[in-house]
Amino acid sequence: MKKPLIMTPGPTAVRENVRLARAEETTNPDIDEEFYEFYKETCYRLGTFLKTSNEVRILSGEGILGLEAACASLTEQGDRVLIIENGIFGEGFGDFVKIYGGEPFYFRNNRKRKIDIEELKAFLDKDSNFKYATVVHCDTPSGVLNDIDKICPILKEKNILTVVDSVAGMGGEEIRVDDWKIDIVLGGSQKCLSAPPGLTFLSISEDAFSAMENRQTPIASFYCNLLVWKDYYKDKWFPYTPPISDIIGLKKAVDNLLGEDNIIERHDIIASATRAAVVSSGLKIHIEDGYSNTVTVIDVPHGINDKKIIKYMLDNYGVMITGSFGYLEGRVLRIGHMGENAKAGKVGYTLFALQRALEHYGFKLYKDMASVFFEKI
Ligand SMILES: *Cc1c(COP(=O)(O)O)cnc(C)c1O
Repeated sequence: MKKPLIMTPGPTAVRENVRLARAEETTNPDIDEEFYEFYKETCYRLGTFLKTSNEVRILSGEGILGLEAACASLTEQGDRVLIIENGIFGEGFGDFVKIYGGEPFYFRNNRKRKIDIEELKAFLDKDSNFKYATVVHCDTPSGVLNDIDKICPILKEKNILTVVDSVAGMGGEEIRVDDWKIDIVLGGSQKCLSAPPGLTFLSISEDAFSAMENRQTPIASFYCNLLVWKDYYKDKWFPYTPPISDIIGLKKAVDNLLGEDNIIERHDIIASATRAAVVSSGLKIHIEDGYSNTVTVIDVPHGINDKKIIKYMLDNYGVMITGSFGYLEGRVLRIGHMGENAKAGKVGYTLFALQRALEHYGFKLYKDMASVFFEKI
């Protein structure tokens, strides 16, 4: 089977050393104490990557498990939870809150712009009685990037715990968990980390753990219960058999990230050049500010069908991009440039293929996107 170049916003290409690490012979991870050391060291390195001294836990499940675990562990019946949203993932947090009996309050903002800090402050001055608040770093369906460096300290000042979904941010965007006072940040293996899908990880502050410990009622889940992970190392006990090969692969992927000097700059350069190419050709970036480094979201030109473009690119050039979903279904095209995919050759080729597809269906571009892109790199 000939494999296409996958340029969607995750899962991303997996580097050979990560694939090989996953093939290593393994031990019994429940019983072998060496694996407890290995798991702890992997968590520690994730903490280094996230710039935190908070505890980190790796759970067996895709990024969505991280979102649900954070909400399940913090939410009690009737808890007021602030859902800061300017996108599909942002809004979706509210559903998890409801499942676990909490009452979501939505701070809704323009979905084409990053969260407006002044509006958020004004909102909180009127009502800040929330147990915790959720916000998405990069909301991938639209590509909008929120200033979590500003948002989280403001919330914390009002004694609101902060939960951040940075699945599509971390690794391509700066993240400083301790400086920015993030109680729980969660990520996934398959975006900028460039490991296969299957793992989520969270850094959990002392405040977040004590909120869980001081609940009136038990956490209404086992698989989503972060508290059962608290003392795994002391007790040498995991709640379930950890997916050892996935974790060995993840550690290699984290080492790849930590070994690169300026990974954020690499993403920044690629993303800026992509936007420049898109705009100069006469296409339109979907959002108006808060452009993320990890995904570029382009409005589908009038009269063009997104599915046809995607299929043409795949059939004729072997490159896969994607549309979006929810309210953006059929309206945008998305190019992911995350981790191993944030490379000039791959993105330049993708823009070339996109151009050919658009031209094939009758949309005339003003400039050659690949040329503009490479000039900016
Ligand atoms: C990818 C992603 C997730 C994980 O969900 P998927 O099932 O992979 O879509 C969660 N949050 C964000 C912002 C993501 O981009």
